[in-house]
Amino acid sequence: MNRVYNFAAGPSAMPEAALRQAAQEMLDFNGSGMSVMEMSHRSKAYQDIFDETEALLRELMHIPDTYSVLFLQGGATGQFAAIPMNLLREGGSADYVDSGNFAHGAMVEAKKYGDIRCVASSKDENYIRIPALDKAAFNPEADYFYITTNNTIFGTRYPELPETGDVPLVADMSSNILSEVFDINRFGVAYAGAQKNVGPAGLTLVIVRRDLLGRARSICPKVMNWTVMTEKGSMLNTPPTYAIYMAGLCMKWLKAQGGVEGIEQVNLEKSKLLYDVLDASDFYRAPVVPAYRSRMNVTFTTPSPELDAAFVKAAAGEGLVSLKGHRLVGGIRASIYNAMPIEGVRKLAEFMKKFEMENR
Ligand SMILES: *Cc1c(COP(=O)(O)O)cnc(C)c1O
Repeated sequence: MNRVYNFAAGPSAMPEAALRQAAQEMLDFNGSGMSVMEMSHRSKAYQDIFDETEALLRELMHIPDTYSVLFLQGGATGQFAAIPMNLLREGGSADYVDSGNFAHGAMVEAKKYGDIRCVASSKDENYIRIPALDKAAFNPEADYFYITTNNTIFGTRYPELPETGDVPLVADMSSNILSEVFDINRFGVAYAGAQKNVGPAGLTLVIVRRDLLGRARSICPKVMNWTVMTEKGSMLNTPPTYAIYMAGLCMKWLKAQGGVEGIEQVNLEKSKLLYDVLDASDFYRAPVVPAYRSRMNVTFTTPSPELDAAFVKAAAGEGLVSLKGHRLVGGIRASIYNAMPIEGVRKLAEFMKKFEMENR
């Protein structure tokens, strides 16, 4: 067996310890005589796994009981529609910040359901920064205010959260949840597709402040209705049972790394290793404005698209894989979520220096 360093943006690398434990338990989970995949979601054995996973997430993110934690399907993209259907009142309005492709997609989807205002956009600058936010442009009567805390494709991150007063802040945290400490009390809703920094694809986490429940429109499908799902403990229908179990194993690993507080320090160190190489080089170009640099997705280019392709190919030859940038932006992207070991990032930093020497 030969494991590589996988820099994919999502689905992405998972902690080896979690994968090993899953392999060990594959045929017989805890003396049950069956795989977790084969268990009824209504069984006690499975409910125990589910409850432990929820408790771990609450512990890692310090989520108080005033929030409902949901384990859903449909991906972050499903929530683009679920959010307005759960929060936007008839005749109501919501503010969106257009900071990247997914933020834009969420805004376009929400427009199907009501009055959606774009309060700031960095689209014209090809999203190389989080747009400047002018509080005077915020609607104090909005049903919610929407942001994307980390922009996976372009490699940007909010250095601080906007102050929205009494308007609930709704955040797509798909690519930086559990990577740094957030005060959950700042959010009305925080949600994430699991396949970047939580676990496998197929699971979507939604964390909702309970006072925001009960507002869903009658047209909202039951499987997307946070109030119904809260009442049913995320089990109105069959939840993504195995993905939840795997996410739990990943969270156990994260807890052993010192939790979110511990991994944040490692993530700072990891991203600094790469940005230091980029800043010391006149060969590579890192397009993102430094104040908005992501700690999870590091984007850069070489002097030409041909060299970008050669870089990606040569890196793969050294066991550093999936470095090709998103098709919308080209270039190179190193996604270095929690599960990417610092050794992998060191190896990439060394490779970058070597590639520069050989191709400058
Ligand atoms: C990947 C990603 C999405 C899309 O997630 P799906 O689960 O594929 O729907 C949305 N937002 C952000 C920030 C992402 O990184």
